[in-house]
Amino acid sequence: MDLKKYVTVVPDYPKPGIQFKDITTLMDNGEAYRYATDQIVEYARKQNVDIIVGPEARGFIIGCPVAYSLGVGFAPVRKEGKLPREVVRVEYGLEYGKDVLTMHKDAIKPGQRVLITDDLLATGGTIEASIKLVEELGGVVAGIAFLIELSYLDGRSKLDDYDILTLMKF
Ligand code: IMP
Repeated sequence: MDLKKYVTVVPDYPKPGIQFKDITTLMDNGEAYRYATDQIVEYARKQNVDIIVGPEARGFIIGCPVAYSLGVGFAPVRKEGKLPREVVRVEYGLEYGKDVLTMHKDAIKPGQRVLITDDLLATGGTIEASIKLVEELGGVVAGIAFLIELSYLDGRSKLDDYDILTLMKF
């Protein structure tokens, strides 16, 4: 299936000059969403993962159906102040300023093999921060899966030590 057909490129959103990749038109098509999910499920099986981790909010959309399909758990990465119990936290750089991501301290058991999922790899900052959280908890990042990779931003260079699946490149 040609998944790119289902991604809507929105010019000048959210700022002039940005070609925003809108995946809602992939998700609202049952066949395309299932096809994309199945590709990631197959990859997760190959990487022998024990649990899925995804950053809010679109990492949930990709990761949760994969977790359900494999019968494994899903652990969320969330912005500061959203998780109710003790967390590990990491600060990461944004284009302007800083942000913080957190995970519950008991979300991952040491040695668990983790698949990290998100919709899109841009600069790689979000995923780099998610990797730090997983590794701080003793998890092993067995793979990282995205629907879309923006190759021209070279986020991949931040992820040299990891195995990556991307379903589409722009
Ligand atoms: P990064 O941290 O620079 O790799 O940015 C990745 C994050 O930004 C992902 O969680 C995406 O949801 C979001 N993002 C960046 N550009 C786009 C886009 O064109 N479409 C959808 N999401 C985007």
